Amino acid sequence: MKIVRYQTNGSSSWGILEDGIVRSAEGAPFVDLRNTGQAVGPVDDVTLLAPVAPRTVMCVGRNYRSHAEEFGNKVPDEPLLFLKPPASIVGPHAEVVYPRIAGRLDPEAELVLVIGRRARHVAEADAWDYIGGYACGNDFTARDIQKSDGQWTRGKGFDTFCPVGPWVETEFDPTNVTVTCTVDGERRQNGNTKDLIFSIPFLIEYITRFTTLEPGDIVLSGTPEGVRQVQPGDTVTVEVEGLGALPNSVVAEP
Ligand code: MG
Repeated sequence: MKIVRYQTNGSSSWGILEDGIVRSAEGAPFVDLRNTGQAVGPVDDVTLLAPVAPRTVMCVGRNYRSHAEEFGNKVPDEPLLFLKPPASIVGPHAEVVYPRIAGRLDPEAELVLVIGRRARHVAEADAWDYIGGYACGNDFTARDIQKSDGQWTRGKGFDTFCPVGPWVETEFDPTNVTVTCTVDGERRQNGNTKDLIFSIPFLIEYITRFTTLEPGDIVLSGTPEGVRQVQPGDTVTVEVEGLGALPNSVVAEP
């Protein structure tokens, strides 16, 4: 099932995408969402919003060896976790704002995990039961600010720095799929989730050892090598094989 969120007269609703048609839904997303059967319209005529509204946006840094090495960082012994503010989330086709105070902006193509059940002290062996879906994500980073601050809150946390979408797929095997980033047609990142240093079940156990993840919370699982900066006017598209395409245009902050 493909879960979407769409705009309706200034408000937002959850829906289900089926054969190119958005249909309205009832129930709790990622828990018991049901198709009402009522058509909202063809997906191209509907304004899709980010298909998640998380309380917690957990991210994993340096989770592909090749990416850790491309910036001269050592491969971590344990997952390197950080948070992005929920206000950083935007949907497919939304504009990503290049901050006036930033000197370098990098997109990072990532597989996003969406939590489907309250998760705390989840054993690695049970972890798959706690995931309610998967999506494409983009961990935009003001690289110069990330470096000069010495920690990552501002550099990773600007409004619009976390595009997610275009939908959340609930039935999906994420263990061997390509993760790519394309900028104005030029392929820059081309990784595969089989190269994750810390596996998805390991991450769920590691994260829920210290914090509770609620249904709808998300985990960005890290980015492969090939990260390079973008400029205002560029269109950045993240694709995770089987999860559609997530395009976003970069605009200068007015
Ligand atoms: Mg990242």
